Amino acid sequence: MKTKDKSESSWNLSPAPESTDHIQLKKRYEHFINGKFVKPVKGKYFATINPATEVKLAEVAEGTIEDVNKAVNAARSAYENVWSVMPALERAKYIYRIARMIQERAKEFAIIESLDGGKPIRESRDIDIPLAANHFFYHAGWADKLEYAFPNKNPQPLGVVGQIIPWNFPLLMASWKIAPALATGNTVILKPAETTPLTALKLAELIQDSGLPDGVVNIITGAGETGAAIVNHPEINKIAFTGSTQVGKIINKTVAGTQKKVTLELGGKAANIIFEDAAIDQAVEGIVNGIYFNQGHVCCAGSRLFVQESIFETVVKKLKHRLESLIVGDPLDKNTDVGAINSKEQLKTINDYIEIGKQEGALMYQSSCTLPSKGNWCKPTLFLNVSQSHTIAQEEIFGPVLAIQTFRTIEEVISKANNTPYGLSAGVWTDKGSKIFNLTHQLQAGVIWANTYNKFDPASPFGGYKESGLGREGGLHGLAAYLNLK
Ligand code: ADP
Repeated sequence: MKTKDKSESSWNLSPAPESTDHIQLKKRYEHFINGKFVKPVKGKYFATINPATEVKLAEVAEGTIEDVNKAVNAARSAYENVWSVMPALERAKYIYRIARMIQERAKEFAIIESLDGGKPIRESRDIDIPLAANHFFYHAGWADKLEYAFPNKNPQPLGVVGQIIPWNFPLLMASWKIAPALATGNTVILKPAETTPLTALKLAELIQDSGLPDGVVNIITGAGETGAAIVNHPEINKIAFTGSTQVGKIINKTVAGTQKKVTLELGGKAANIIFEDAAIDQAVEGIVNGIYFNQGHVCCAGSRLFVQESIFETVVKKLKHRLESLIVGDPLDKNTDVGAINSKEQLKTINDYIEIGKQEGALMYQSSCTLPSKGNWCKPTLFLNVSQSHTIAQEEIFGPVLAIQTFRTIEEVISKANNTPYGLSAGVWTDKGSKIFNLTHQLQAGVIWANTYNKFDPASPFGGYKESGLGREGGLHGLAAYLNLK
């Protein structure tokens, strides 16, 4: 009898979809302003779609300058009359309560995140939602200890902050932005991305239930124009933005010369570097995690792989084998590794880059998996024969596409890894601590992981070098960005 190789059978798992029976979505969502859900002034709405099925999930309000004005007035009044004058210990209790409530409703949030964004439930359940709660817990702890965090600096809030976030980690980004703003005594107007507004709106419902005073957090939905209306508003004291480098540059120009503070968390083209002395199986798993899980929809995705020449054949063989075993499909299935691409536009961008990669002479290899007939999907892809000048080695693709290059010496890989306009993150895989220290000193990246990848912690500052951003979020650095310090 022929017995099946264990690895061969491991990708024939029975479907294990998460049930959506208990998920309640309204047909239509309004803006959340001054503690209430209110209709958009211009009365316009747009649809949010499940990218895995193309089914419309709900309609959400399209924000205009009039809606932003209302939100700013509410946030200003809440700032002056309630939030900035409330004892910090009381502020902390609200933030802590929100954290606990996210934990209690974690399953609901995880399912809605996967429905609206296309990411595998394993990711939203194990990473996005727990980390979102952690950001509130962590910052609840700081709220009444700012004097100790910044001794003799007389920490004071900035006022009203505008926060604009992308679609790759919708609830996590919302929490990552709202929690430090509240802990430091600021009030908020947040705009989620147009393709993933639902968990932010569910957070608005949770905030209502938490009893947070009206107007402290306001959530306005809409696309780029709504974001621009927030950025341009003269009464907003700070803009915190996460998104593309292109929009980040526009925002930076807009706020230049105004009283507004700004933090920008932008694109990346991270180098994952694997040395011949690394634990190769572990490294391959980390590389796969870094670029294929979550469809490469991560600004710090390890989209460039540098392999030391002596282990090139081995690493590529293992990677190809692992690519074949990745389960691509239903985001709600607990076995799924790679979910749906967030939008048709993003899928087109990724496919265009794959075409450019082939045209410029790189050698493409894709998983032989079968893609679902409906929805936005991309096969896990890798490119060999890549050179530094190739577009796929230079530009951010934001999809499950890995560009592989080789190197011989440390000097060579440092110069190749740094040869990009970006500098958000990097990964190093080696058995030698000295190599890790050498590289972390010389790689121009805000975050460098060693023998692991994509690990996040609210206590750790996050942000980029060069065109990857301005300022830091998380940890004490992130708190400082929401304060006036003497
Ligand atoms: P991505 O490529 O990740 O979608 P974007 O930078 O286009 O990144 O979008 C990130 C966020 O910025 C979204 O919430 C989007 O609606 C918003 N946005 C897009 N254009 C502008 C703009 N000109 N001003 C302010 N916000 C914008």
